[in-house]
Amino acid sequence: MAVERTLSIIKPDATRRNLTGQINARFEESGLRIVAQKRIQLTKDQAEGFYAVHRERAFFGELCDMMCSGPVIVQVLEGDNAITRNREIMGATNPANADEGTIRRDFAESIEANSVHGSDAPETAAEEISYYFSQLELVG
Ligand code: GDP
Repeated sequence: MAVERTLSIIKPDATRRNLTGQINARFEESGLRIVAQKRIQLTKDQAEGFYAVHRERAFFGELCDMMCSGPVIVQVLEGDNAITRNREIMGATNPANADEGTIRRDFAESIEANSVHGSDAPETAAEEISYYFSQLELVG
């Protein structure tokens, strides 16, 4: 198995409800290691840049507003197959379709306010990590 790194975000709906510790316990208990982490408030420009791939979608404006509505935790998770593993722990985008025991099933408020983000492929993981972290912050 390959050791990978992936970008994880704890979204504003979760930081607002004080769920940071419970969510990160799930990653750690699953064998993923948090090797970089910061709590930040995104600007609209920063949220739009991060979600640029979705700019044609009907929900783009609402999604970016939601991501700026409170602090987020941006973090890098490392471990065997970390990209896929993180997405398994997160569960499906829509919490109504998420498996039992996943973060989104247990904590998400809606398909939009779904508590966590996780990169979906090695290329996007590398791009997303570099969007938030400099090389110096990634010695880990
Ligand atoms: P993810 O990889 O599971 O996060 O899902 P996507 O990349 O498809 O979508 C990115 C984010 O946009 C999701 O995590 C949701 O916060 C939001 N989103 C996705 N689909 C919808 C939708 O149909 N409506 C709304 N309002 N938000 C959505």
